[in-house]
Amino acid sequence: MIIIMQSHASDEQVHGVEERLAAMGLRPHVSRGIERTVIGAIGDERVVDEEALEALPGVERVVRVMKPYKIVARESHDRDTVVQVGDVAIGGRTIQVIAGPCSVETPEQMAAAAAGVAAAGCRLMRGGAFKPRTSPYAFQGVGVEGLEMMREAARLHGLPIVTELMDVRLLDTFLEHGVDVIQIGTRNMQNFDLLKAVGRTHTPVILKRGLSATVAEWLMAAEYIAAGGNHNIIFCERGVRTFENAYRNMLDVTAIPVLKRETHLPVIIDPSHAGGKAWMVPALARAAIAAGADGLLVEMHPTPAQAWSDADQALSPEELRDLMAELRGIARVLGREI
Ligand code: PEP
Ligand code: MN
Repeated sequence: MIIIMQSHASDEQVHGVEERLAAMGLRPHVSRGIERTVIGAIGDERVVDEEALEALPGVERVVRVMKPYKIVARESHDRDTVVQVGDVAIGGRTIQVIAGPCSVETPEQMAAAAAGVAAAGCRLMRGGAFKPRTSPYAFQGVGVEGLEMMREAARLHGLPIVTELMDVRLLDTFLEHGVDVIQIGTRNMQNFDLLKAVGRTHTPVILKRGLSATVAEWLMAAEYIAAGGNHNIIFCERGVRTFENAYRNMLDVTAIPVLKRETHLPVIIDPSHAGGKAWMVPALARAAIAAGADGLLVEMHPTPAQAWSDADQALSPEELRDLMAELRGIARVLGREI
């Protein structure tokens, strides 16, 4: 950390900053130039409150040198992390496509969905039993019963299940129902109590990007989970909110290489919630894989027009199968497989 003093800062003020840094556990090194004095502070600056330093008399600006995140940073772990979900590896050479309906509806719908997921060659299944809906009058999810329906349907095909946790009080229920991957949704990316709670488990977590979260905020949200001891984190970009309203959200493909540089953890893309229309999904999915994503989270419904939520963006089982075939070709070019 570097503290830049104001041009007229007195020796007493410089000394005051030195003392404060020492009290924070950092070692100060004063450099006096012709126009300014700067103080370099050596030590773990992550624990330092930068605003408290900036408020000291004579201080002009505080510049951080270290990244505010530690465990999730590429700096701390050079090799790509592979998150293991049973036998399924996320983040390795194999690209994983997680598919399934937006919402769990009925045992029949889930049975047909699981069959479609497996037939397309996907190795994990998604489905929401608890739904974060914009309107309180919209379908809110079938609840705990949905976990049972999904567990049962997925078991028949040996598919691990991915489902969204919205309420910290339901964490134990999720674990008791054998949820394999906990999804933290866009609207909860900065629900810090929820992040801390899943951080105390060892269950893999898909952390979706907040509606208008910066990459740095997203990385810090992941750091909350990692700081609790759970390093099984997968980032999921699902589109961000912009001025554009021709589609639901803008898929931030740029975030893929940026995250890959900043973190060693796997990165997947949700093309369904980005585009918001089924016809956009293949193009966005191709772009994501070409840009280096480790996988996809795709909505697929046995009968899309009858879906209880997000009907417009669900692929049919046949469309999912065709997409998988297309993606295999792209993966091959990249030296990967699906
Ligand atoms: C979902 O995946 O069903 C979902 C609600 O996504 P998001 O949190 O990205 O809106
Ligand atoms: Mn959805």
